[in-house]
Amino acid sequence: MSSHAHMARREFVRTALGMLAAAPFAARSLAQDTAGLEDRIEFRRLVAANRILAHEEVVDAFGHVSVRDPENPGRYVMARSRSPELVEHADLIRFEQDGRSLDPGNRRPYGERMIHGAIYEARSDVDAVVHNHAYPLLPFGITGRALEPMVHTASVIGPEVPIWDIAARFDDTDMLVRSMEQGRDLAATLGDNTCVLMRGHGAVVTASSLKAAVMTAIYLKLNAEVQLQAMAIGTPRGLSDREIELSRATQFSPLALDRAWEYFCVRAGVDPI
Ligand SMILES: [Zn+2]
Repeated sequence: MSSHAHMARREFVRTALGMLAAAPFAARSLAQDTAGLEDRIEFRRLVAANRILAHEEVVDAFGHVSVRDPENPGRYVMARSRSPELVEHADLIRFEQDGRSLDPGNRRPYGERMIHGAIYEARSDVDAVVHNHAYPLLPFGITGRALEPMVHTASVIGPEVPIWDIAARFDDTDMLVRSMEQGRDLAATLGDNTCVLMRGHGAVVTASSLKAAVMTAIYLKLNAEVQLQAMAIGTPRGLSDREIELSRATQFSPLALDRAWEYFCVRAGVDPI
């Protein structure tokens, strides 16, 4: 055997031994990857919603989306603490409404999950919630200037978008919603509205489905951009209450909602489901 052949054989043996040694770790990581929730269309849509909201720059490294648990309306499902663009099925965790994690792997949850639980608790008509820090929304929450539907696609945000100021009841904080008490205070300001702005922080969007929540969150941001531009060149004239009502019915029709969902899924590189 030539010395070259010797070296090649030794290299092969070393590689094979290395693979054997690595095998238990590979098996463990595969088990973790498949440790997520059962495969349901709602959960596949939740993963898609995460990717879409990231792609449309509604969320960035921060922000999250949840869905009410189809198995148990007193629970909800959202990803472990991870940037939405990176969320996969295996990242999904079930939570009790009060924020207690039901994750057997005890992975780190989002610190602001109480926003979601408090809204599901207060609003039986809400089955999906988005929390985001989209930059065009922030000037409205900071100044108190009313954010109103300016364009028909944004009629889905509803006629009124209240502003919640965490300092009104909780004084100086790190601005994050970290307790059910704070979440419930936010839900009270949301009231029967679809969206609520949070001073110096962001917004919460609610809807009866993930598709509607995603569409509303995207057009809330777009509306803020348009209103800011309009305010820079004149006095904007928004939609009337009746226009909002009529346009909202059109935007939430299955035709429009499914078309938008397919479009946003394909843009984000996920299967339209
Ligand atoms: Zn936040």
